Amino acid sequence: MTIARRPTIPFAQWKLAVDLKATRKLQNQAGMPAFGCACDVCADWKKLYKKIIPGQMSEQLNRIGVDQQHPTDIYAFMESENDRAIRVLFHFIGKILSGPGAQTFCNKVHGQIMNYVPQGYENFFSIMVLPANQSFETAPRRSDGSHDQVVCIDMRLMYSLPQ
Ligand SMILES: [Zn+2]
Repeated sequence: MTIARRPTIPFAQWKLAVDLKATRKLQNQAGMPAFGCACDVCADWKKLYKKIIPGQMSEQLNRIGVDQQHPTDIYAFMESENDRAIRVLFHFIGKILSGPGAQTFCNKVHGQIMNYVPQGYENFFSIMVLPANQSFETAPRRSDGSHDQVVCIDMRLMYSLPQ
């Protein structure tokens, strides 16, 4: 595997080595939770994701090579009249070179909790990056059927519903 196929890409607080070619093949895989889904959350995301994702993060995701219109999974975990809070998951093939771990100790619950790292935007945008085999979520498989070097980008954020 050549270095050229594994560029080092900064993504939020992480540095990621990405196999772009293999990542492209991993996108929009049949059988994943969001595959072919036409619910409101998926439909709005396809239309509005560039506006929903704050700052330069959409460009950074683009560099990783994920198909932003087709997340592995996306769902709303809170919705009011005007706002919707969603969880969006993408997967790529590569390695986490550096960055915050996926678990952190919480004093309130006296145990490990998921370490969503706040990104400092008004819409509660937070991110966790972890190997797919350490995640509880459904992940796409490589052509050999494995999750070898499949990495999950797990994001939570809120946006105003289109009126
Ligand atoms: Zn959907």
